[in-house]
Amino acid sequence: MRRSDAVNILIVDDEPANLLALEAVLDRLGENIVRARSGEEALEKVEQTDFAAILLDVRMPTISGFETARRIRQRPASSRTPILFQTAAMDANFPIEEAYALGAVDYLMKPLVPSVLRAKVSFFVELYRKNAELVAVQQERHRAALNAKDQRIRLILDNSKDYAFVVTDPKGVVTEWEGGAEAITGWLAAEAVGRSASIIFTPEDCAAGRPAFEMRMAKETGRSENKRWHICKDGTRFFADGVMVSLNDASGKLRGYAKIFRNATAEQLAADELRASNDRLAASEARVRLATEAADLGIWIWNPASGQVHWENDRARQIFGAAPGGLANVSDVHDAMRRPDDFLYPQDFPEFQRQAIVTITTGERFSFQGRIVRNDGSLRWVEMTGRLQHAADGAPHILGMVADVNERKRAEERERQAAHEAIAAAETNAKFRTFFEQGSYFAGVMTIDGTMIEANRLCLEMSGLTREEIVGRKFWECGWWNRSPELMETVRLGAEDAASGTTFRKELPYFAADGSTRTVDLILAPVTDDNGDILFVAPTGTDITDRKQAEDRLRRLAADLAEMDRRKTEFLATLAHELRNPLAPLRNGLHILQLAANDTEMAGRTRDMMERQLLHLVHLVDDLLDVARITRGQIELKLKRVELKPIIENAIDTCLPLIEASSHRFHVQMPKEVLITVADPTRMAQVISNLLNNAAKYTPHGGCIDLRVDRDGGDVVISVSDNGLGIPAEALHGVFGMFSQVACNMKRSQGGLGIGLTLVRQLVELHGGSVTASSPGTGQGSTFTVRLPMAESHPDEGMTVLPNAVLRGAARSRGVRVLVVDDNEDIAESMSALLDLGGHTTRVANDGLRALQIAHEFKPDAVFLDIGMPGMDGYAVARALRELPDMESVMLVALTGWGAESDRIRSREAGFNEHLTKPAGLPAIAGILAKIGHAKQVSTKT
Ligand code: ADP
Repeated sequence: MRRSDAVNILIVDDEPANLLALEAVLDRLGENIVRARSGEEALEKVEQTDFAAILLDVRMPTISGFETARRIRQRPASSRTPILFQTAAMDANFPIEEAYALGAVDYLMKPLVPSVLRAKVSFFVELYRKNAELVAVQQERHRAALNAKDQRIRLILDNSKDYAFVVTDPKGVVTEWEGGAEAITGWLAAEAVGRSASIIFTPEDCAAGRPAFEMRMAKETGRSENKRWHICKDGTRFFADGVMVSLNDASGKLRGYAKIFRNATAEQLAADELRASNDRLAASEARVRLATEAADLGIWIWNPASGQVHWENDRARQIFGAAPGGLANVSDVHDAMRRPDDFLYPQDFPEFQRQAIVTITTGERFSFQGRIVRNDGSLRWVEMTGRLQHAADGAPHILGMVADVNERKRAEERERQAAHEAIAAAETNAKFRTFFEQGSYFAGVMTIDGTMIEANRLCLEMSGLTREEIVGRKFWECGWWNRSPELMETVRLGAEDAASGTTFRKELPYFAADGSTRTVDLILAPVTDDNGDILFVAPTGTDITDRKQAEDRLRRLAADLAEMDRRKTEFLATLAHELRNPLAPLRNGLHILQLAANDTEMAGRTRDMMERQLLHLVHLVDDLLDVARITRGQIELKLKRVELKPIIENAIDTCLPLIEASSHRFHVQMPKEVLITVADPTRMAQVISNLLNNAAKYTPHGGCIDLRVDRDGGDVVISVSDNGLGIPAEALHGVFGMFSQVACNMKRSQGGLGIGLTLVRQLVELHGGSVTASSPGTGQGSTFTVRLPMAESHPDEGMTVLPNAVLRGAARSRGVRVLVVDDNEDIAESMSALLDLGGHTTRVANDGLRALQIAHEFKPDAVFLDIGMPGMDGYAVARALRELPDMESVMLVALTGWGAESDRIRSREAGFNEHLTKPAGLPAIAGILAKIGHAKQVSTKT
């Protein structure tokens, strides 16, 4: 009958019979009997189950009983299990000591006595049972104690969020997730429990088998350091700083693992950064060292206290000219340590000193470039850079590097020199280029065979081609001569000459891009090298078109001058003749008057004849003077708005005697409307009367003369036609030229000088008009047409003063006291007589002094004063007159051959009121006297 609280008893024997016997004996105890047929099987059972006692046969084939016992004892769980050996017979040799040493509690001899066996085994069973009870009580107590402890731990865990506590089973499955585990990992306890603890390992650690490795470490050594990057639920990483321990139960059996860690991310990052920066520092130091060596840099230290520079490496010593190898190898300590003023070039030392002071005082980088004097006396350029450093005791020094920059300096110097030369060369080239491009000549370069390789701007402009179009072409095909095969051939031959060494030069026509034909002075010159070999041909040319034209103009001018000169000579001959012509009848007339004084009819006719001749003479001289004045720019028109009709009537009046003397029929046709023009009435009348005179002169007796006035738009057109001699076509354009007379008409010229039409044209042009001549041919009459611009239709208040009006004015101005002063007695007398006839009171003086005396007594209203007089001239007399009492307001009229504006200004300044050019016409004189008369009337009335 098995007991309810049966315990296990192990029986071990290789003999099944023995086992059976043992079992039979022990079965009565009511406990569990477990059999084992060998030591190995026994060990296996022990491993699986707790036994209250073990009966162990000593003699067994494979593992002996002793050995089995020893192994059982080795196991902690079975180290105290009572072992009872059984041996076959009372063997005197049984090693009792050894058996007890192995933990045997007893030994039994075979054959076994069942009751003894049962008593002994039950003793151990009872002991086991008692023990178990004791253990149970102890365990219960222990559990209670643990519970209390647990609660305290829980309190700590719940309040400790900085540390995570994680417990897993032996396979690593989370069983507890406490403390800061949730906060640190983001996994809630409910989520984490039941999962593998590897959820907080990074994928790379998982892949590397890290979770298993840690557990193994903890299992084998009791603990495993846990300092590594872990991963949160959300994928972010944290650095865990902790430890993992294995959890064993009291029997030493593995129950799982506990892991405790805190989040050390911040510290780790700081540490990483520190490490990284240390690494960088180390790397950069290494680089600096490498660079320093690679760059051939020397290292030096300058100590301001000692004032000495210490060479820190061989390169520094080399640079400064000392033997390499350091102090140990050099005899002279100065090779390794010298004052800067010992090794620096004296001129550069101050700069070194200055830099050193700046660096020591401000901490600024030390930078110096200068020359050193090496031991062998040679000079070298060095570049020294450095930084301020402080020794452990705080003393400052400069640590720096030195490089030998001698070669660089040399190279720089060479480069500078080269650059300088290049600039100079470029400048020279540029000057030549500019000179070549901007010259006022065509210039180019062509090969010996005439192919263009260069052409300047002017070449391009004149040919209308681009540089690309010209380069590569034959010179004579570049467009300048293309239109003329002969010219092209000439130039080609010239180029051949040049290519064979003969300079070719010729003035040639060429065709410019604008289509015009111009002239070039072309030179094709061979260009040779020092040996005289022809390198290329330089075509140059100057456009001489303008010069040519100027030459042509000059030639024409010379021809014109010669023609003029011829005409002038002719004219002088004519003039002499013409002036003499009227003189003969005049002299004859005088004789007649003397001889036939009483024959009044004869005297009358003679006076008429004489008057006509005189008029003719005056007319000739007037024209002559007018032309001269116009030519010298001395004529001034007194332009005003005037009606044309009275001017024409005046001209007709003048010419009517001549027209009637030749019995011409004369028709005048004028429009009814009032035609107003801006003109000098006297001059315009002179124009028309000249044309009428010519028509009368160059038309045979009983001819027909027509005068027509028409309006043509804004112009008035006055034409004078006759049916007389006409003018041959070839002479037409020349009739307005000075001294020009149509040869075939000469016999009817009646004393003309060939200046009448010149005067007509000049006056008309001065009026802004034009005059033309036309004639169907010799014997078919001529028409002269004057075209004048019209003014608006209403004439000025002060309308034209006409001769009849002059006379009326003269009549009104009777009684003016006039002093006439002229050294030419005839002029003075005749003028005086004329004024007397007009009813004025006159006196005559033939010099200035006399004039002043007479003026003083006579008190004239007006003085007509000749300017050019011997002794006191007109200006002086005028000034003196103005000084006389009552003479301040006398009308002073200058009479002079000079009528330019400057002469008028001069006379005005001398005190003259009026300025008349000689011979002064009666209308001008009458006009002036009328003004005085009018003034006198006004003053007497008041
Ligand atoms: P001249 O004093 O010779 O008349 P002009 O200058 O008045 O000089 O005229 C120049 C020339 O023009 C005259 O010599 C004359 O040959 C020609 N001529 C001028 N008017 C006429 C005309 N109406 N008919 C033909 N020939 C004229």
